[in-house]
Amino acid sequence: MNDLARATIYVTGLVQGVGFRPFVYRLAVSMDLKGYVVNLGDASVEIVVEGRVDAIKKFVERLRLEKPGPARIDSVLVEWLDFTGAFKDFQIMPSDHKVKQSGSSIPPDIAICDDCVKDLMSGDPRWSKYPFTCCAVCGPRFTMIVDLPYDRERTSMVKFPMCEFCRRDYEDPANRRYHAEGICCRFCGPKNELLDNSGAKVPCEDPIEEAAKLIKEGFIVAVKGIGGFHIACLATDDDVVLKLRKRRRRPQQPFAVMSPSLERVESFAYINQIEKELLTSKERPIVVLRFKPKSPISPWVSPGLDSIGVMLPYTGIHLLLLTYVDEPAVIMTSGNYPGEPMTITIDDALKRLSGIVDYFLTHDRDIVNRCDDSVVRVSGGVPTFLRRSRGYAPSPILFSGVEDKRGCVVALGGDLNVTTSFLMGNKCYVSQHIGDLDNLDSLDFLVQSYHFFKKALRVKEVDAIACDLNRTFASTKFAEELSKELGVPLVRVQHHHAHATSLMAEAGLGPNDEAAVIVMDGVGLGDDGTAWGGEVLLTTYERYKRVGCIKPYPLPGGDLCAYYPIRALAGLLSQAMSLEELEELLTNKFSSAFKYGPREVPVVVKQLRSGLNVVPSSSTGRYLDAVSAMLGVCTYRSYEGEPAMKLEALARAGDSNVAVDIPVVDKGKLSMVDASQIVLQLLTSMRDNPPSSIAKVAHVAIAKGLAEIACSKALEEGVKVVGVSGGAAVNEILIEVIEKEVSRHGLTLLRHRALPPGDGGLSAGQAVVGRFHLNA
Ligand SMILES: [Zn+2]
Ligand SMILES: [Zn+2]
Ligand SMILES: [Zn+2]
Repeated sequence: MNDLARATIYVTGLVQGVGFRPFVYRLAVSMDLKGYVVNLGDASVEIVVEGRVDAIKKFVERLRLEKPGPARIDSVLVEWLDFTGAFKDFQIMPSDHKVKQSGSSIPPDIAICDDCVKDLMSGDPRWSKYPFTCCAVCGPRFTMIVDLPYDRERTSMVKFPMCEFCRRDYEDPANRRYHAEGICCRFCGPKNELLDNSGAKVPCEDPIEEAAKLIKEGFIVAVKGIGGFHIACLATDDDVVLKLRKRRRRPQQPFAVMSPSLERVESFAYINQIEKELLTSKERPIVVLRFKPKSPISPWVSPGLDSIGVMLPYTGIHLLLLTYVDEPAVIMTSGNYPGEPMTITIDDALKRLSGIVDYFLTHDRDIVNRCDDSVVRVSGGVPTFLRRSRGYAPSPILFSGVEDKRGCVVALGGDLNVTTSFLMGNKCYVSQHIGDLDNLDSLDFLVQSYHFFKKALRVKEVDAIACDLNRTFASTKFAEELSKELGVPLVRVQHHHAHATSLMAEAGLGPNDEAAVIVMDGVGLGDDGTAWGGEVLLTTYERYKRVGCIKPYPLPGGDLCAYYPIRALAGLLSQAMSLEELEELLTNKFSSAFKYGPREVPVVVKQLRSGLNVVPSSSTGRYLDAVSAMLGVCTYRSYEGEPAMKLEALARAGDSNVAVDIPVVDKGKLSMVDASQIVLQLLTSMRDNPPSSIAKVAHVAIAKGLAEIACSKALEEGVKVVGVSGGAAVNEILIEVIEKEVSRHGLTLLRHRALPPGDGGLSAGQAVVGRFHLNA
């Protein structure tokens, strides 16, 4: 008998809502071990087994090796105890049995798995063409969870009682739908409906098939998915795409498309191995791919760009719809007006989208948590998030260099692409994409999201609230209110410091580590009151020194420069020539790029002369925008990032053989790249060089200048690591140049992998700074 023992095994990682407990059950039973498994609700499960020692050892080994696909094991801890003989069999204990206080993990949504696709395409009366088919390893989770622990009664599936067949599957340990909380079938689950745009039901046998027919005929259809409504229509027909642009008031913004299969994607875009894996992953994000020449897709899907955002179907609804439409791709863009959150209820969709769409393909399962699609771009072999949302959020990101101590810091992000973060121990729970806070609906969404996470993560006490330095942001105002209400400190974090620390934290840097981080961004408020955005910060979590930047140039009219980038060009050139020369140049060559044409030129020059309503800025984004306007690529910004995105697309076709000096000026300990001088040289080179090469060199020069400063400051201070963050750090050309410079200096380059380089990652950086301010 002495080879019998008991073991308590703690497994942490992504082990809840991914079919892990049923897997443990089947494994234990097959190995004749007795005991139980239970969710502890804090991203871990506890397994207690009794049996032969060698069998238990083998069991632990097989847990790691044979875990279900979507599960991720971070650690396994085994405690050996004496055999008691207390168990007759092996059981899955109810979740609430032993739920810990806080730090629960909220499972993200998982794309439909291959087995469920097979069921969907089979002749089985329960599953055939039934789009809500799911199992223990696939289907929606976060978007239907009301509270934790993740059990059916706390999801929006509660209003669909299981039929006897589903009940049987749910309770049968041998079935792959055993304990699948979202289980349902044609007899008991949610149903689709087709409505016209007045909300009247369209009688038809199969609403998805009918919607597909309508799309093929050129109609625009809103489709309710798992995280919100999409707007779907043909992507191959110019007239249809232009109709959508007109109705949606989005003249230029690229639309994402959904394609039925990888093979169909290959008919219009290049896909490398990493992109292939992303497209078919269980997270199934939108992947930004390069267009092939002679694509069947309308050029109006992403005008002026050489890329297109593509995803594969991730639910049964999408899969059936795309199969019936049978096109290379269908437009599948978020169902909202620009800036507003995605619509999630039928009533709201009818109110907001009836001016855009002709029909609604809807269903009767409630969307609890709105969740936009994630967007990823592979640059230089590294998948980089443009938006981290469905499929990834709200899985926590491990900040392994940050001390795992009790307490919680909540951070609320900036103003654009906002997310909220809860830093608990060394795990950072970053919310889904909330959006831009320039409208009340987005602000409401931020508030709701804060309350959901606070409840679901069982946060008893918040230690601090972190926000941006900018006091005019709605997120800052909300943070101020919260800090007052909860009676906890408010930590205001400089925008680019937060970008830098988000990078350091995801890379696992520790409290004493220092890095030289290049932050290439739009604009964020600097600690001197000016608009920063092209910075080199020598930084730890706690504090930073600004050791480099783009030499500040005036932005006449402030925010107007974001929309009319010719103003930023005027500002840059005003430092490289006299105002008289500038006025003549603008009048003769660029007057049509101003909103009010030639009349506006003297007004802008006057602004520059007086310094009234002029904001000094070191922004990388505005510099790129200015070059974009100078080359006539984009003179009005109709969506965020447009001038710079179009400039990058043009630059990819260019050479970098236009000679330019990259002047660096030193002012005390601060080294500055003189972007005005770069722009002046590019302007004079325009006569003899193609626009694509001017565009290319504009990128190369600024990236080289900033990288040079970062490397020399790092070497001076004995810092080994150079990082790159900020909204422009998704730009492939900039990254490539910086990568080369950094390795030429024998230093290591840190790039974002887990968080977006843009403002979607800001809250995570704020949270970690908040934590260190508490320690200080
Ligand atoms: Zn499945
Ligand atoms: Zn059923
Ligand atoms: Zn930023």
